[in-house]
Amino acid sequence: MADCIFCSIVDGDIPNHTVYEDDDVLAFLDVNPLARGHTLVIPKEHHERVNDLPADLAADVFAAVHDLTDDVEAAVDAEATTIAVNNGPAAGQEVPHVHAHIVPRSEEDGGKPIHALIESPPEVDDDEFGDLAAAIRDD
Ligand code: 5GP
Ligand code: ZN
Repeated sequence: MADCIFCSIVDGDIPNHTVYEDDDVLAFLDVNPLARGHTLVIPKEHHERVNDLPADLAADVFAAVHDLTDDVEAAVDAEATTIAVNNGPAAGQEVPHVHAHIVPRSEEDGGKPIHALIESPPEVDDDEFGDLAAAIRDD
């Protein structure tokens, strides 16, 4: 897609440090890393969000995330990783081409868990849990 930074990377118009590539998926180092080894995994085809991906491509992207996680951790001797997708602008997605972050983590990095994302999470009672689950199941 024109004007998409990650499509330009796929096309070779913007240089990158590639760590994995196949016909459908590219993984490369984030240019502004949150930690050494911070890796982005993208489908080569332009789709904005996870829910826009065809199911087989979503599976390919996640398979690459799965395969790369050990390699990223080993490369920088990380104890753990945070694996995350900012899925849409309201969730902080800045590049509108779906990408999974693999961020190496350690006990000492001062980083936070995903539960630190929201300052005031809602209080949900059991009735509402039931309604929410039904709405997600769409019954
Ligand atoms: P988002 O906030 O959309 O989830 O994350 C976008 C990520 O892409 C950011 O972590 C940012 O550092 C990274 N990024 C943006 N432009 C480039 C680029 O041109 N090259 C690389 N390697 N990473 C980029
Ligand atoms: Zn794109």
